[in-house]
Amino acid sequence: MTERVYNFSAGPAVLPLPVLEKAQAELLALPGVGSSVMEISHRSKQFTAIIEKAEANFRKLLAIPENYQVLFLQGGAQMQFAMTAMNLLAGTGGSADYVVTGTWGKKAMGTAKTQGTVRAAFDASSTNFNRVPTADELELDPAAKYVHITSNETIQGVQFPSEPYFGDAPLICDCSSDLLSRPLPIDKYGIIYACAQKNIGPAGVTVVIIRDELVEASNDGLAPMLSYKEMAAAKSLYNTPPTFAIYMVQMVTDLLISEYGSLEAMEELGKKKSALLYDVIDASGGFYIGHAEKTSRSIMNVPFRMEDPEMDALFIKEAGEAGLTALKGHRSVGGMRASIYNAMSVEGVEALKQFMVDFQAKHG
Ligand SMILES: *Cc1c(COP(=O)(O)O)cnc(C)c1O
Repeated sequence: MTERVYNFSAGPAVLPLPVLEKAQAELLALPGVGSSVMEISHRSKQFTAIIEKAEANFRKLLAIPENYQVLFLQGGAQMQFAMTAMNLLAGTGGSADYVVTGTWGKKAMGTAKTQGTVRAAFDASSTNFNRVPTADELELDPAAKYVHITSNETIQGVQFPSEPYFGDAPLICDCSSDLLSRPLPIDKYGIIYACAQKNIGPAGVTVVIIRDELVEASNDGLAPMLSYKEMAAAKSLYNTPPTFAIYMVQMVTDLLISEYGSLEAMEELGKKKSALLYDVIDASGGFYIGHAEKTSRSIMNVPFRMEDPEMDALFIKEAGEAGLTALKGHRSVGGMRASIYNAMSVEGVEALKQFMVDFQAKHG
């Protein structure tokens, strides 16, 4: 198969075609260098320019204040589940609050528990994680070392529409599946982290945006690779970083800036794309059943199912034949999940929408 399909994978996920084409064109020789980006030193002036541009792009798109560092680390989001707790919880004798709105938040809390005391300030597991909390449902510990949230639960399709008030403890956010999909008031957060392979680039690099104060407050004596202090002091170049992944991230963010200009524009597009699918679900008279409550619906991941799991299987099969792939939902939710990150075109979402309408007409 050489034709590109509409790929609704939750991650690693679709990348913008112009970025893939540019990477292809430059694969053998980076212009002016004569070698692949994979073949040059991470301390060369060419790679330095790439990582500095990637950071500058993040700073520009998210309006990141001066007193925050932007790090490019490895180990994925789950390494950050550990690093946040190792640096800011372990050995403090204190406790950290976790707002558990889905599978990833639960896993983050479980990982932190290996490092210190944690408590759930909210846990929606009794309704299979179909919503975010209201402010008065949060049971926050005023003395918490930090509060951890997951802005978008990739598996359940549950997203905070905006930041509710989480008290005065530093707010740590796993933004793995929605960073760069909308503007964020960075100064409300202590740490924002995101693995790249959903919305930002290929697997292998994880972006960490951290307030200086929290770098300083981090534990000493950790293995350097797990220490915010060491990684920040080395400007992400303590060891060899994932150079190819960072190069891709630089190009993805270049494209965001040149094509859309701002994250406000990206958010508008995300709302428009997700509404195409939610409208079909809502107008289907119960044929399609969405997972998340309406006010907690994600603009990035749209999980839905039908009454009969055999119909779900038929949907996935027929969709695949029509060039709409990777729609199988996570086993904990079942049914389908359409992941429609920044790089999924409006045409792709419209094709899925039409397929859903036709499928109901045929089988409903
Ligand atoms: C994918 C994902 C993770 C896990 O990322 P890894 O890089 O595989 O560790 C964690 N949190 C969220 C919200 C995710 O979407």
